[in-house]
Amino acid sequence: MNIREICKDAERIGISGHIRPDGDCVGSCLGLYLYLKKLFPKKEIKVFLEKPADIFSCIRGFDEIEILGEEVPQVPPFDVYFALDGRRDRLGGAEALYEGAKVKVNIDHHVSNEGGCGDYNHVEPDASSTSELVYDLVEDKLLDADIATALYIGIAHDTGVFRYSCTSPKTLQAAAKLISFGIDFPRLIEETFFEKTYVQNQIMGRALLESMLIMDGRCIVSYIDRKTMDFYQVTSKDLEGIVSQIKLTKGTECAVFMYEISTLEYKVSLRSTEKVDVAKVAEMFGGGGHVRAAGCTMNGTFHDVINNLTVHIEEQLEGAGA
Ligand code: 5GP
Ligand code: MN
Repeated sequence: MNIREICKDAERIGISGHIRPDGDCVGSCLGLYLYLKKLFPKKEIKVFLEKPADIFSCIRGFDEIEILGEEVPQVPPFDVYFALDGRRDRLGGAEALYEGAKVKVNIDHHVSNEGGCGDYNHVEPDASSTSELVYDLVEDKLLDADIATALYIGIAHDTGVFRYSCTSPKTLQAAAKLISFGIDFPRLIEETFFEKTYVQNQIMGRALLESMLIMDGRCIVSYIDRKTMDFYQVTSKDLEGIVSQIKLTKGTECAVFMYEISTLEYKVSLRSTEKVDVAKVAEMFGGGGHVRAAGCTMNGTFHDVINNLTVHIEEQLEGAGA
């Protein structure tokens, strides 16, 4: 895929990422945005995203993001539209902008997005992150510290700071090149990945305290209901990282964390170590993601949801001879 070629005749270019934007989503969108602005200073380039967490304000261009709300933005059609880090049906309110564009481009690393959904697709399920894929596509000579900051944050977040098995030699080579621009990477990671507010730590504490081991300790589950979220005055952005923390429990193969998004409706996050393909489990319930990290939305009580999920998790654990 050649971004310069695809965009050369376009006057208006749009970029969006998935709903509930995470570090990779924000990093890849802003990295591509900064790159396109440098490549084509005269073109109109816009990024539309659901409101990202404020921690990402350290990335240049953060204040220029057009925040998606309930209503589809009333703007003329785009000549080229990029859907990053997800499928065409999870663009957080920008779906119509993507569908209405003359040329659609999809850059993604989710297994559940096989083949891609654009006229041009760069979909690599083995890549650590969409930010790594954007890094592959940018011309070296145009890279700078601002683009490097965006892409480094994206890669670091989706690899759990270079710990997850999706981290490859290529990922580390990309990271090495990006830090060569002199970015303050220890601070960027501390402030966007590890640091938590007091209430974020408190609610994580609640989730840990109330977690339960099931399937002889091979699976750990926990949840936060609406009432608790209201009590601590937190939103979904404050719950980022809880599933990875409970997953650190020794002996577990699989972790499930869920929080109530409306009455008896839960956003479910799944993580696994090596035996369970959680993307497969999430897909059974209309979700998706990666083999080791996936999610979906499910209805019912906490126990209904856990019962429905564990049938499929257990089936895979039994199949793996665990
Ligand atoms: P998280 O658990 O952090 O929300 O998501 C883990 C991974 O699964 C991310 O890559 C995310 O994009 C993907 N994911 C989470 N929820 C859904 C969903 O409802 N549908 C799809 N297709 N992917 C999801
Ligand atoms: Mn990603």
